[in-house]
Amino acid sequence: MSRVLELINKLKDEHSLSTDEYRFILDNYTDEDARSAAEMALKVKQGIYGNEVFLRGLIEVSSICKNDCLYCGLRRSNTNCQRYRLTKDEILECCKEGYNIGYRTFVLQGGEDAYFNDEILCDIIKSIKESYPDCAVTISLGERSRKSYEAIKKAGADRYLLRHETATSEHYSQLHPEVMTLENRMQCLKELKELQFQTGCGFMVGSPFQTNEHIARDLKFIEEFSPEMCGIGPFIPHHATPFAEYSAGSVELTCFLLSLVRLMHPRVLLPATTALGTMHPNGRQMGLLAGANVIMPNLSPQSVRKKYELYDGKAHTGQEAAENKKEIENTLESLGMYANASRGDFKRI
Ligand code: SAM
Repeated sequence: MSRVLELINKLKDEHSLSTDEYRFILDNYTDEDARSAAEMALKVKQGIYGNEVFLRGLIEVSSICKNDCLYCGLRRSNTNCQRYRLTKDEILECCKEGYNIGYRTFVLQGGEDAYFNDEILCDIIKSIKESYPDCAVTISLGERSRKSYEAIKKAGADRYLLRHETATSEHYSQLHPEVMTLENRMQCLKELKELQFQTGCGFMVGSPFQTNEHIARDLKFIEEFSPEMCGIGPFIPHHATPFAEYSAGSVELTCFLLSLVRLMHPRVLLPATTALGTMHPNGRQMGLLAGANVIMPNLSPQSVRKKYELYDGKAHTGQEAAENKKEIENTLESLGMYANASRGDFKRI
């Protein structure tokens, strides 16, 4: 057995490797190793979640953002971005439509838009929970104060997604303006965990300046942080950002990393992301076959879907659209998988 395969087996059995071991895998793995890792990851996933895939309705509540992340099409400096913000009624309307189609988790994601202060956001969360007590609410609205996270939790939010983006400070500062620090990002993640959110971290694959050493540290961070959810998708350039000319991340490497994260944390909720679906017509299926078990189709109003443009060509039609649930279910069935209509919480032991 090759050293890489030995290490992948060790990860499956012990759920831990050193940063150097992760690095060794990344430097030396072959397509065949990736196929073996995917097979193992799929089995591990089946052992816990069966053949079921959780569906989340993604509501992109605002394209207004105070931040200036160098990779993101919503960055403040992009003056050509069409900005919008959904009203409370519009968000509730999305939930109503989603609920009727069968979604039982609503993910409210957006730029860091000061309009959604604690009072407004908590009122929206409470209204969703009052109308749909059997549904989970996930928030993904960036870095906030501990007090704010506390208020959101008290209002009824169940989960919070905040990708760490990269676990290496120097790389973090190559991707973000100076005012944003990895230290603060990590502090937010720690607080979210302490407040008992089901917490999601994650990173982009192939972001500018990323090396295997960075990815190895990301894997070690994910191992130690032990998130309930983990978003890993390829970086895709956006024409109006400083990274317009950089290449997109690899679909194959993204799938391999999904497999490693599944072996590391068998119970983790792992989405096959929209970015993966954007990069390859079968990207989502490839992610699911590599060990992912969540998909997050778009439930935003049709009129704004094009405006939430994080990267060029972001998919929002076909199987990326929440209303095409039947089509999504058919694709899952062709993979021997089934859409699970429940809240789909993290399964604790
Ligand atoms: N503002 C919130 C935050 O910072 O967590 C949530 C929205 S943010 C746009 C969601 C995620 O989109 C980011 O964590 C980032 O990893 C991803 N993203 C942004 N630009 C991207 C790009 N060009 N390619 C791929 N993913 C991107």
